[in-house]
Amino acid sequence: MFSIYNTLTRKNEQLISNVQGKINMYTCGPTVYHYAHIGNLRSYIMEDVLEKSLRYSGMDVKRVMNITDVGHLSSDADTGEDKMLKGAKREKKTVMEIAQFYTDAFFNDCKKLNIKRPDVVEPATNCIQEFIEMIETLINKGYAYEAGGNIYFDTSKLENYYVLSNQKEKELLVGVREDVDADENKRNSSDFVLWFTKSKFDEQELKWDSPWGIGYPGWHIECSAIGIKHLGEYMDIHCGGVDNIFPHHTNEIAQSESFLGHKWCNYWFHVQHLNDKSGKMSKSKGDFLTVSLLEEKGYNPLVYRFFCLQSHYRKPLEFSYEVMDNVKTAYGKILKKVSELSEEGEIDSTEYNNYRQKFLEALENDLNTSMAVTVVYDMLKSNVNDRTKLELIKSFDEVLSLNLTSLREREDENIDNDLKSYVDEMIAKRAEAKKAKDFSAADKIREELLSKGIVLKDTREGTVWSLADNV
Ligand code: AMP
Ligand code: ZN
Repeated sequence: MFSIYNTLTRKNEQLISNVQGKINMYTCGPTVYHYAHIGNLRSYIMEDVLEKSLRYSGMDVKRVMNITDVGHLSSDADTGEDKMLKGAKREKKTVMEIAQFYTDAFFNDCKKLNIKRPDVVEPATNCIQEFIEMIETLINKGYAYEAGGNIYFDTSKLENYYVLSNQKEKELLVGVREDVDADENKRNSSDFVLWFTKSKFDEQELKWDSPWGIGYPGWHIECSAIGIKHLGEYMDIHCGGVDNIFPHHTNEIAQSESFLGHKWCNYWFHVQHLNDKSGKMSKSKGDFLTVSLLEEKGYNPLVYRFFCLQSHYRKPLEFSYEVMDNVKTAYGKILKKVSELSEEGEIDSTEYNNYRQKFLEALENDLNTSMAVTVVYDMLKSNVNDRTKLELIKSFDEVLSLNLTSLREREDENIDNDLKSYVDEMIAKRAEAKKAKDFSAADKIREELLSKGIVLKDTREGTVWSLADNV
């Protein structure tokens, strides 16, 4: 049986889905005003491992992710400028151009990290009508009110608004948190905006007509409406980073359950933050760690995935290049070991099932990925025959997604013999593409090489390359 820690009950719980064998899973997607930092991507890696582990245990998963392209203000509460508008101003582009560019960049990073694309990906700006309908129902049911041109959710209508976060109301009083101004329209300090028609930032680029005037949605409504649109009235698992617990997920529960009239989601899965030495990572800080930066420094993005898998998702994780270097060495060694396994012989089904079971048990125990990695090492060290080891590695990689057989496949293709001339030719093509300012063609070449385990690095002397597993 699969068990995960549920933020809602603050306990490890057996996962019992609404429909047996099927899991409805929702993930808060990125706010696409900048590149994702590797902290954001820690959350998406661990959510990807959760999805794949559920599938590995035999469940059928439907996963939905929104793309936040409107409404997320600089503060997670209702103040500050829309992050998308900030991004557009920074780059002198339109909001939709920014959204498209950073959505593509996000999925590009996901691809490099072997994060599977969710079954449904829905930008918030596609669903304005659904938001309006949901807000209308909340008003009609007496959970929302209009004040000063905006529509607010009335948290005093709920018996326990802080069901998820267990926050002390006084700790959250508006004005206590940095950059939060008191909004005099709110009846209660914890009320939040569902629809803006009035804001200090009047130059909001994207606005829509609504029964309450021309405006734009608050941030929280999108995940409730998109979740219900694609997964129906009952959700099994809702995921996000821990910073989403309050106010975002707390507000999602308030809106969704008031709208539906019953409990909405049973399990809340939250990933602790990745921090750097100076503390929390933030996209708004400007200079932050991205997948491209790791590549420029010569790391295969999968080394970062491996780094994340080696610690538990509920523990804060500190990023450092020293640890990355150790993980890089360990990753190279595993690939090498796998490349040396012989394909001869029969699969020993007893050993196969035994190790598959151990691996699954680790994952079923609140996604203990470091234990799962230990099973990989134990299995490789054991005296199980090579053929069985190889099949087990392929099986484990369905969840770990570390391309564990990549070195062996490269050797199989015998690329090594003419590897140099092949890479040199690709580098020359890339240089030509760059000269012609065809950066997307140039990026494609870089990616194609990376998918073969070859990392390019642009230096003053020109482009140099190395093999990802032993760079
Ligand atoms: P955003 O693009 O800011 O909406 O965030 C995307 C996802 O990354 C959300 O699930 C956040 O909770 C999560 N997140 C933000 N910062 C971090 C961090 N430092 N480590 C892990 N996850 C994070
Ligand atoms: Zn969300």
